Amino acid sequence: MEQILVIGAGLAGLSCAKSLQKAGHSVLIVEKSRGVGGRVATKRLYNTCVDQGLPALEPQGECTDQLLADLMSARSLQLWTDITHQWQENYSLLPRSMGKQYSLPDGVNAIAKHLAQDLKILRQQRVEQIHYAHDNWEITCQMAEGELTQYQGKALVLAVPAPQAIPLVAPLKLPSLLTPLESIEFDPCISLMVGYTPTPQWEALPWQILTLPQSTTLQKIFYDSRKRSHPEQVVFVLHSHPDFARHYIDSDNLETVARTLLRAAQETLDLPFDSPQWQQIHRWRYARPSNNLGSAYLSTAEPLPLICCGDWCLGNSAEAALLSGYGAAQWLNTRPQLD
Ligand SMILES: Cc1cc2nc3c(=O)[nH]c(=O)nc-3n(C[C@H](O)[C@H](O)[C@H](O)COP(=O)(O)OP(=O)(O)OC[C@H]3O[C@@H](n4cnc5c(N)ncnc54)[C@H](O)[C@@H]3O)c2cc1C
Repeated sequence: MEQILVIGAGLAGLSCAKSLQKAGHSVLIVEKSRGVGGRVATKRLYNTCVDQGLPALEPQGECTDQLLADLMSARSLQLWTDITHQWQENYSLLPRSMGKQYSLPDGVNAIAKHLAQDLKILRQQRVEQIHYAHDNWEITCQMAEGELTQYQGKALVLAVPAPQAIPLVAPLKLPSLLTPLESIEFDPCISLMVGYTPTPQWEALPWQILTLPQSTTLQKIFYDSRKRSHPEQVVFVLHSHPDFARHYIDSDNLETVARTLLRAAQETLDLPFDSPQWQQIHRWRYARPSNNLGSAYLSTAEPLPLICCGDWCLGNSAEAALLSGYGAAQWLNTRPQLD
């Protein structure tokens, strides 16, 4: 069977590639980062691991249910919590039940590694250009050292956030793809990971996930070290409000951005967030789509199959990304050009 190229090794790209490979296709994934997973990201920091994007996996539908079942039998998935606490202006906490949140001892990125098993993935290769030539889709990638390289395939999957697909698709002059891509918007998020020495005050906190509905600076705080079995330090991940992230996403003074987030946490919660032992900030320019396409993928069969998929097709969740990836694979499996 002919080679299918998949750009992006997030949940959508991995689920699509896995399904295509299962159907007998030869699949090559090209990923710009060093690791797989995209927004399902775990950072190794100061002798621990921290989930800096998706905080946990919850059953949201058919795909996440199946993935959780697979992970349950393959490795030690653990139930983290099914309660979120909501911060109230009168300093009280309102516990609310939510879907079961599952964590993994090595962080959520192990989910992506599980999906990536047996797939052929080229890492640290950023796709810069796609074009149609000699009866093939051809992609030009920039490698970590700056060199350019090219790959050909009979079909192309763009499993990247819609705004990142636009510069690749625009030169192809395919308005049926470009116009819908341009209609998708993403909320940004700034994640701040912070570590502290354990103290009775930190240990007494009753929450794992805290939501701050009244704040325009902070949206959620995750007690990340409570996902680990024998944590030696107290680790939190602060997720900014999208409006705060929009304002500071291009700031060249990340030190000040981090300080503003910590001060907001300290002042709101009256807890000593202000002086962490260590901190690391991450900017998610495309954290979560604020609207969606309303269908599993965006495709054209001419001149050869090209399909865009990702969470933004169906929603803003892990389930949406997986469903879109599998949907894209199903469409490709029915293409006569790929028999
Ligand atoms: C802070 C945060 C909190 C979240 N919280 C939740 C939550 O509570 N619940 C939930 O269900 N979901 C949550 N999500 C969303 C969830 O993580 C995403 O919906 C899902 O992971 C998206 O997967 P994807 O494959 O569509 O995209 P991505 O994970 O973005 O994958 C795209 C991949 O393409 C690669 N790529 C992009 N451009 C190129 C290029 N030119 N060349 C090569 N590779 C390229 C990227 O590096 C990336 O690996 C959260 C996300 C973030 C960031």
